[in-house]
Amino acid sequence: MQSRWNNTDAAQAKTDLDLRAYSSRLIGADTALVLHGGGNTSVKSTHTDRFGEKLDIIWVKASGFDLASMGPEGFTALDLRRVLKLAGLESLSDADMVNEVLCARLDASAAAASIEAIVHALIPFKFVDHSHADAILTISNTPGGKERFAEIYGDRVLVLPYIKPGFDLAIQFRDVIANTDLSAYDAVISENHGVFTFDDDAFRSYEKMILVVDEAEAWLRNNYGRAEFTQTDAGDPVGVAAARKGVSDLAGGAVISRKSKSIPGSNVQRYGALLRKGTLTPEHVIHNKPYPAMLGDDPESGLAAFRSEYVGYFGRAEDADLTMLAPFPHWALFEDGRCRSFGPNLKRASISADVADTTLEAMYYADQIGDWQGLGEQDLRDLEYWELEQAKLKRQKPASELTGKIAVVSGAAAGIGQACAEVLFEKGAVVIGLDIDPSISETMSKPGYEGLVLDLTDEAAVANALAYVVDNYGGLDIVVSNAGIFRTGAKIETLGDEDWDAILAVNLSSHRKLIKQAVPFLRHGINPGIVVIGSRNVAAPGGGAAAYSVSKAGLTQLMRVAALELAPEGVTVNAVHPDAVFDTRLWTPEALATSAARYGLTIDEYKTRNLLKAEIKSRDVALAVCAFIDGTLPATTGAQLPVDGGNDRVI
Ligand code: ZN
Repeated sequence: MQSRWNNTDAAQAKTDLDLRAYSSRLIGADTALVLHGGGNTSVKSTHTDRFGEKLDIIWVKASGFDLASMGPEGFTALDLRRVLKLAGLESLSDADMVNEVLCARLDASAAAASIEAIVHALIPFKFVDHSHADAILTISNTPGGKERFAEIYGDRVLVLPYIKPGFDLAIQFRDVIANTDLSAYDAVISENHGVFTFDDDAFRSYEKMILVVDEAEAWLRNNYGRAEFTQTDAGDPVGVAAARKGVSDLAGGAVISRKSKSIPGSNVQRYGALLRKGTLTPEHVIHNKPYPAMLGDDPESGLAAFRSEYVGYFGRAEDADLTMLAPFPHWALFEDGRCRSFGPNLKRASISADVADTTLEAMYYADQIGDWQGLGEQDLRDLEYWELEQAKLKRQKPASELTGKIAVVSGAAAGIGQACAEVLFEKGAVVIGLDIDPSISETMSKPGYEGLVLDLTDEAAVANALAYVVDNYGGLDIVVSNAGIFRTGAKIETLGDEDWDAILAVNLSSHRKLIKQAVPFLRHGINPGIVVIGSRNVAAPGGGAAAYSVSKAGLTQLMRVAALELAPEGVTVNAVHPDAVFDTRLWTPEALATSAARYGLTIDEYKTRNLLKAEIKSRDVALAVCAFIDGTLPATTGAQLPVDGGNDRVI
């Protein structure tokens, strides 16, 4: 582990807090030190209040901020004397502790300080750095960890037995500090939990963290080498979709599944056994439950085994006040060595995948060393069902309708396709847009909102794109088959083969290819549905657009047959028939002006040439599409919904 300290950057800091924020970011930048909230920092300072009174205060990292990117705003100032007074109590429930620490804030609107605030306050140095460094925890969790620390550090590091974070940990530190001169140590290791370093100088506190972690890493590397695990593609994407469906059923709703690193298949059984002996650090139980599922050829039986083991684990708490969390695994090890995470949304699934990667690296060392000795079941369960964690869950916003769902939208670079992608994403779905227009890789380039450039008439390319979607997100629930082209005005007499063939290839045949390739995955989807974008021309064709009208009529018939064929699989298939949607690329200002003039209308009159005199937007079409797949119309399939402002030829 390398120090990231830079004197020029550090010199920019004007205050204690600026400097604290700077070195906190250095710690946050190293995922081997802190991963998704595992770690916190503080600085002690003074503050003159409104009445001119000088107070001793402590700035503690607040929850909800990321060490890697936060500035001074990520710290909450507390009245140090008041926090220290809490440590004088003999007992305090964790909920009361949280309330007392909230009351000690200098700013009533500041975010809650870390749960470890009292420990930070007790350590009698200006700067305190705390991490859950992988290497330290890996050594701590192998049998004889304490002796190994003695071998590595001699008497430079104080090792304390595990105590659950919260008030009990504060009491442990209070009693140790009362009898120990911490200045004799470079660090304090809290077994199975993490490491604290401290100094009156920000640089030295940070450097001690890097030094002790580097020594632990070097010890592991020199004795056992390094895990060289990488991600591999899913060999069988349909199997991935089936496993994700099974997990979603246990979770009681759609989950996203992310790829983690793979291990050699020959290690799976051994790692599986080690993984039953506790997580790397206690908070990992909150992200990933106490252990992963082990999945073989038939994921259903592996998931059923996980469920019954988890129900047993929960039941042994024998606490009627607790409510069991949904008994689904947050990650799974497949028998060929692949590993995937599962979470109720993309963020949670990604965190679980990162934690799984870190855990697998720890298992590499555990396997080499010969055993693993993480926290026991009761400690893990105490953490997983800790009142503070349960309260956090209760405060979570309810998920939006499509959270956890995975959607593909064809022709999503512009117009109706783009609007569908946007609305599905707003409603919580992961959305992958497919388009031949390369701009889609820029317009859709956020996590869970991704554009793939491909020719939708190329079935192999479509198959690859869907395999990519399943490999990266776990499955497929929604297909909005929208791709379409329009070429203006040729009567049948002059319509050339090239135009006819090109329009049918995109507007009709490409949809058959997409639906054909999607069915094996939709079969394992969660309330799966297909919506095709038809046209008013199906019911009310006009002269001069034979190829367009025929392609859309064919597409509608394809939708009807698909609805018949897929109903037994639970997949709904419906069509939306838009008309006069002018905020699309088909309608350039010139095309609009020409068409309006042809009818002797102004542009505004032309745009609202429907019974309701409504100006129809792409977004209106997208909302109609959503109604078929967001649970609004669960019992509807084979239906055709006009979005045209009312048309007397259609009605
Ligand atoms: Zn901690």
